[in-house]
Amino acid sequence: MTVTGMDEVRDALKSIAQSQTQLLSAFESVSQRVSELEKGRGATGPSRPTNGTSRVDSDDVLDPSPTPLHAGYTTDPSLVSAEAGTQQASKSAAAIGKLEFPSRVILTTYPKQIGINPFPMEWGHADPVKRGPVVVSRNTSTIRRRNAIGAHSGSYSIYYALAVASRELPLDHKPDFTNTEPAVNIGPFPQWGDKKKIVAMDPWGHQVPWLFKDVMENENVDLRPTIAITKAHMKLPELEESVRSGRLVPDGKVCINSQGELAVTKVAVEPVWYLPGVAERFGIDEGTLRRSLFEFTGGMYPELITRADIKVFLPPIGGLTVYIFGDPAKMSDSSKRLALRIHDECNGSDVFGSDICTCRPYLIFGIEEAVKEAQNGGCGVVIYFRKEGRALGEVTKYLVYNARKRGEDRASDYFKRTENIAGVKDMRFQALMPDILHWLGITKIDRMLSMSNMKHDAIVGQGIPIHERVELPEDLIPADSRVEIDAKITAGYFTTGHRMTDDELKAVQGRIWEE
Ligand SMILES: [Zn+2]
Repeated sequence: MTVTGMDEVRDALKSIAQSQTQLLSAFESVSQRVSELEKGRGATGPSRPTNGTSRVDSDDVLDPSPTPLHAGYTTDPSLVSAEAGTQQASKSAAAIGKLEFPSRVILTTYPKQIGINPFPMEWGHADPVKRGPVVVSRNTSTIRRRNAIGAHSGSYSIYYALAVASRELPLDHKPDFTNTEPAVNIGPFPQWGDKKKIVAMDPWGHQVPWLFKDVMENENVDLRPTIAITKAHMKLPELEESVRSGRLVPDGKVCINSQGELAVTKVAVEPVWYLPGVAERFGIDEGTLRRSLFEFTGGMYPELITRADIKVFLPPIGGLTVYIFGDPAKMSDSSKRLALRIHDECNGSDVFGSDICTCRPYLIFGIEEAVKEAQNGGCGVVIYFRKEGRALGEVTKYLVYNARKRGEDRASDYFKRTENIAGVKDMRFQALMPDILHWLGITKIDRMLSMSNMKHDAIVGQGIPIHERVELPEDLIPADSRVEIDAKITAGYFTTGHRMTDDELKAVQGRIWEE
């Protein structure tokens, strides 16, 4: 075949594909209209109850030929499609059963499949429009345009599913973003346009509804922010005591009054992973990362395997919150001092005051030092990561506690106990943590309120120097948590004090259960 002949064939195929896409769009809009009309008819019907609890009898106005999917699942493989496009169109997106899910279940999609048309995405591009929005919704109006795998809101995506399933939330709910704009302006910084520096969050996540307003309105694409920025006051009993003892002096701005009330800017961030970048941080190949994520989420995200063209994943995990004390603009100003604490969640200590570890004391110390730095003309930042129990979770953590307390709870055995149960000492893997520092425009840290080498090395490894490391003062360490802190110091955690010998470490013992 001649070159010209090939071109003709290619053009013909292209035009067929285009017509297919148009046909699919037309079909979807017709079925959407049918569904709307049915809903309208039902809502105005004389005997139709309007409260949500009575809506279970709405079958009469919906699909007259319900399938086993009516109940939300099926044992008949012929009803489940592993492909989108033509098969999706063949049965239409018309409402069926009790919920208005499309009748065909789309288990996965494939690149270049007819009807699949992902939004262009150029991760790390400095121009947010060229970078492109993160499109992850499986809404019928958006599913064909997805350029990301997973779902919004991290682990809370499951509650979203429950809300829809229990009819608390309509399938087609569209958030109203009026007045939700960030309370303070952060960035943009050159780091936002560097795909090596930010791989675990969307640097434009706080501006989504405004940056991509046209796409959302004109193309009916469902987009949601992954970052939100607000302002608040906060009160901690320890800080009231700090003011009373004279360690903290109210200035009316950062520390507002004698109760130790603080003014704070808060940033909530949900994880958005650029898979090639995440793989690179861990020194592994992208394929291995995708396969492992697929397997250990119970096969929840088959597109990790079938859509190599999609590089972004919104994982079902907790995110982080930044607490900024003082003027946020000073974070990125290298002429101003910065104090920083990176804190990983420990619910038992942080919230409930459990004394087996140093978490809350260190958190409070971090906040107090951050406030002081802000009062001295610099800025203080505390970043709280949802990585409960070294990212092993509370169940594993309590099993470890039991094994410790049923043994002799010696500092020399501290890490061994965790390793016996979890297989590793720690699953927090700080490799992705520094992204938030790049996002905040931080280029150096004057005072790092942490003794962790993993955190230190991850930050310095990302090219952000740490000028001073500050350990938790002795008088803030609860007696029962000596086991933890001494074990950590001996394992290499930062200290300016004494690093114990093996024999000394064996002598450090925690409280044993009274049995
Ligand atoms: Zn703790």
